[in-house]
Amino acid sequence: MRIASIDVDTLLFEYPAQSRFRYAGGTCTHRVSSLIRVAADNGEVGIGSVYSHPRLVETIVTEQIAPMLRGRDPTAVEDLWRLMYGLTRWYGRKGAAVSAIGGVETALWDLRGKQARTPVWKLLGGENVKAVPAYASALLWDDDVAALGREARVHLDRGFRRMKMRLGRSWDYDVAALEAVTTACGRDGEVMVDGSLRYTVDRAARLVGELEARGAVWFEEPFEPEDIDAFVALQKRSRIPLAAGENEFGLQGFRELLRADAIDIAQADVCRCGGIGEAMAVGKLAAAHGKRLAPHTWSDAVAVMANAHVVAASPNGFTVEIDQTGNPFIAALLRDPLEVRDGMLRLSDAPGLGVALDEEVVARHRWPAGRPLPDGAYSDMIFGPTHLAPAPPYRDGQA
Ligand SMILES: [Mg+2]
Repeated sequence: MRIASIDVDTLLFEYPAQSRFRYAGGTCTHRVSSLIRVAADNGEVGIGSVYSHPRLVETIVTEQIAPMLRGRDPTAVEDLWRLMYGLTRWYGRKGAAVSAIGGVETALWDLRGKQARTPVWKLLGGENVKAVPAYASALLWDDDVAALGREARVHLDRGFRRMKMRLGRSWDYDVAALEAVTTACGRDGEVMVDGSLRYTVDRAARLVGELEARGAVWFEEPFEPEDIDAFVALQKRSRIPLAAGENEFGLQGFRELLRADAIDIAQADVCRCGGIGEAMAVGKLAAAHGKRLAPHTWSDAVAVMANAHVVAASPNGFTVEIDQTGNPFIAALLRDPLEVRDGMLRLSDAPGLGVALDEEVVARHRWPAGRPLPDGAYSDMIFGPTHLAPAPPYRDGQA
């Protein structure tokens, strides 16, 4: 088997006005993701996903990576990753390049599994896996905190047992929103909190008291990802596990976080951090530090499944994230939709990643190669000055 071609599909979705959500970056107008397809000369196609700037991903994959990989054995996944990493190291290592090569590597794992007629989780060392824990990622900023409580019940009704909410708006909002969601969950569910990078150490420590009282599962990214010292300082004042890693790349990035004892939960995302092998390596290193792996995902259902295989194969794999904000690339991209029951995402024995794309959905959302993205707030990237509307600074308020 030889690699015949490598292609990128940029997927783009614009929310209808009434479905847009508010978050720390403003109002989310669009969603985007990049699918990678590695086709072999025997007709098999491996699928991967990248969550980064799509135009950069297109350029790196089609102009530099694809010509180097064509004609090579796609099952030599580790060798090809090292080749891609070496080719992009000078401008890569963190950011779009390492994310892009991770998407190609994920597609190579899918091909390797198809060739071996074995699911990727089994190739990675998992045993007898039927499902992995998964949590609903949603509960964005809402002026009506009672609506957050109602939304929490919807996630429970859809089969989730854990859910992540966004705080970091103001002290009064944080406490009211947390109260609404944890009360609505009662004994049926547990809550993770995403701090949206909006705290100081003292403010975060104050919120930790509330999180401890309500049994929160983890406190994610209270600080900017570069501020490792703040994470270390909060660790000493928190019994709630601290989580981060959606903004980290490569084993070397996570090594810095783990050596510093900055986090309890490593959120390496296959589609951002550098691929399946890299996320597995982060998980192993985290285990050596007595920490857990709970991959971030946000972009699409291929990303969810790729990360789920890593959780399934990692002894310290804790749970995988599933966007529940009405993202069509989660809900409609796969011919067999994601299936969550009793808080567990089903994994199958199908070869490779076990994903088949709904090509009509891909065609409907495909954004032409080379065309600039429309201005908008893409949840993690913002284009155009009119969409640059970050939330006002955190207000301390009164408890
Ligand atoms: Mg997050």
